[in-house]
Amino acid sequence: MIEIKHVSKWYGTTQVLDDCSTDIAHGEVVVVCGPSGSGKSTLIKTVNGLEPFQKGEIIVDGVSVGARDTNLPKLRARIGMVFQSFELFPHLSVTQNLVLAQVKVLGRSQEEAAARAVSLLDRVGLRAHQDKFPGQLSGGQQQRVAIARALAMDPVAMLFDEPTSALDPEMVNEVLDVMVDLASEGMTMMVVTHEMGFARKVADRVIFMDMGKIVEDCTKDEFFGDLEARSERARLFLSKIL
Ligand code: ATP
Ligand code: MG
Repeated sequence: MIEIKHVSKWYGTTQVLDDCSTDIAHGEVVVVCGPSGSGKSTLIKTVNGLEPFQKGEIIVDGVSVGARDTNLPKLRARIGMVFQSFELFPHLSVTQNLVLAQVKVLGRSQEEAAARAVSLLDRVGLRAHQDKFPGQLSGGQQQRVAIARALAMDPVAMLFDEPTSALDPEMVNEVLDVMVDLASEGMTMMVVTHEMGFARKVADRVIFMDMGKIVEDCTKDEFFGDLEARSERARLFLSKIL
């Protein structure tokens, strides 16, 4: 579903991704972790074309992200992305946040888009808040709206970049619960997070990055089960967060 092949990226003369390769199969959940500045956000943003890269190739659902003739807006519409900051449209109601791109990008009718919005808000437990504005919701609620908005586009995969790290602790679980449900329904997911409880529960694989490189790419059981076999960097990282 997501094939990352020998991807390298530089900002000016600084290399931030160094020969990164991995394959994420349909329905697989991959957690990406690693120290600050290791390239996690950059890697995940290359997948939906938000960050260009100079070397290598990324293929999402058969479409090459970096190719000149690829219609990036069309590709992006098929890959859901959820950021640390919720990035909702503040001047639109919750429902309208979910409706807008369905109508503008997918060409759905207002009625069809609104019906889809309501069913997704139901699913993330926010139907009662459908007419509110983002500023009237808690952080956890806003992030659930952001997830529902991404799902409204019927994405082939979902990318998450630290979706819970801006939240107060008591709101983390309501967002993780939605993500756990999504994973169990078979969504292909690439999740940058330091929530190792989430990784243990739903990840199929864990990728550990350091200094722009994918240092570890192994099953969850390998990652958490056999620390002796992990790289020194990964062990140091785990010793700080576990
Ligand atoms: P964090 O855990 O803090 O979010 P990260 O692993 O997501 O870190 P990235 O944000 O991908 O790391 O950054 C990787 C490297 O690229 C860092 O050294 C960062 O300083 C650099 N970088 C990121 N964005 C830019 C930019 N727009 N211009 C120049 N350098 C950048
Ligand atoms: Mg980051």
